[in-house]
Amino acid sequence: MKVVVDLSRCQGYAQCAFLAPDAFRMHGEEALMYNPTPDDAQREQVLRAAAACPLQAILVDQLEERDAPVQAPPS
Ligand code: SF4
Repeated sequence: MKVVVDLSRCQGYAQCAFLAPDAFRMHGEEALMYNPTPDDAQREQVLRAAAACPLQAILVDQLEERDAPVQAPPS
């Protein structure tokens, strides 16, 4: 799976590092480090982290929607 974090949005709230510590890690107080290609075994954790990010800075599988959860279209 592919993960991109918009670091211009990220404010270092660390929700992602808490929920998916294998994929996201805080480096110091505010700098986020992450694995852009986490193993599919981490999918659940990563999706949870993306959902929990208060700034929606985590984008998951934007190019391959295959296993993406179904979302209602924006109204
Ligand atoms: S949860 Fe969002 S804002 Fe917080 S560190 Fe992760 S990507 Fe950044």
